[in-house]
Amino acid sequence: MLNIGCHLSSVRGYEAMGKEALSISANTFQFFTRNPRGGDVKPMNIADAEALNKLLKENNFARVLAHAPYTLNLCSADSGIREFAKRIFAEDLARMEYIEQGMLNFHPGSHVKQGVETGITFIVDALNGILSKEQKTLVLLETMAGKGSEVGRNFEELAEIIKRVELNEKLGVCLDTCHVHDAGYDIVNALDSVLEEFDKVIGLSRLKAIHLNDSKNPLGSHKDRHEVIGGGFIGLSALVNVINHPQLSHLPFYLETPNELPGYAEEIKLLRKHFNEK
Ligand code: FE
Ligand code: FE
Ligand code: ZN
Repeated sequence: MLNIGCHLSSVRGYEAMGKEALSISANTFQFFTRNPRGGDVKPMNIADAEALNKLLKENNFARVLAHAPYTLNLCSADSGIREFAKRIFAEDLARMEYIEQGMLNFHPGSHVKQGVETGITFIVDALNGILSKEQKTLVLLETMAGKGSEVGRNFEELAEIIKRVELNEKLGVCLDTCHVHDAGYDIVNALDSVLEEFDKVIGLSRLKAIHLNDSKNPLGSHKDRHEVIGGGFIGLSALVNVINHPQLSHLPFYLETPNELPGYAEEIKLLRKHFNEK
């Protein structure tokens, strides 16, 4: 069974997203914890979260994934921005505790002119202040394309963060196919060696989710512009290899392609058709 879903809008609440996922033959989904540009959040609706949990269970969903706002920057040079990011992160994590088997994905951050070492230190310090033994939610670091001064442009940077976080049993990695391709990892011609490298540097047991996207730009472009499945430089056959790879096929896949709901429905149908059931 291919575990696949797409990014959905959370404006109508948790259970509504579950129903929307079902309507497009998805068995998981991703959503923003709040406005992707940061800022306000609706009060937590526990009854709605419980209604979603029931739906997830009844329909055998794979783990759902929340995505922190893009603007959240745990390694900003500005201490006010770092403190704000930590507060948002902690709030979003607390809210995710109401979702069974939930995961929270975030972009490690942008170090701007401070250098990657300083950036990593701020991210590690923030996570050490936020993660708790009691939390059930798994926190995922996303692999980044390396545009600007993004931290997480290679596997080594993510490994360094994980190594230095005390409660790193609460951490995993979300691999974004567009981002790793744009970062220079050739998943089109050398998927096996990319995964070997991931295993050697981070450990494949850390890999908990895949953002499945095509890319508008060539290998190593450091751009991060998502394309619809089969419409970009990665292409359909390479993405079909990703979902069928023996080391990946059990993972949940989340589409973040430039689509509205009907486009996502088509992509899910296409990918299910190309998935080899075992
Ligand atoms: Fe992302
Ligand atoms: Fe992504
Ligand atoms: Zn992206």
